[in-house]
Amino acid sequence: MRGVDDDGEDLERLLGAGLRPTRQRLAVMRTIRLGGRRHLTPESFHCELAAIGLRLSLATVYNTLNHLTDAGLLRRVGFGDRTWYCTNAAEHHHFFDEQSERLIDIEGEQPEVSGIPAPPEGMAILGVEVIIRVRRRP
Ligand SMILES: [Zn+2]
Repeated sequence: MRGVDDDGEDLERLLGAGLRPTRQRLAVMRTIRLGGRRHLTPESFHCELAAIGLRLSLATVYNTLNHLTDAGLLRRVGFGDRTWYCTNAAEHHHFFDEQSERLIDIEGEQPEVSGIPAPPEGMAILGVEVIIRVRRRP
């Protein structure tokens, strides 16, 4: 069994996704793995990296998160004018807590969407994201 601090796993995941395992990407992958399942924003992740002494520009953090997403290692979730990067790359939908402005994975059985219209002429549907807005009851 692999340990929690297994850097080899990060190397394998990057190589498996066809990404060059630069020192920077390995450090980013390690930070993502050690932080567990969560939803990152470029700003929150930038702070997380700075807290462990990895000083990257916000633009670099943005680019790195997008590269990892395009390689299938993260999932990009957009809602309104905001974008999160979900560390759970499996197919799943989300709750959005309006008070804390936090995304929460829907675990287990996923909602089914029916009645999806045909896409506009010449276009193909890539996916459907379900985001269920919630707030704490008074
Ligand atoms: Zn998620």
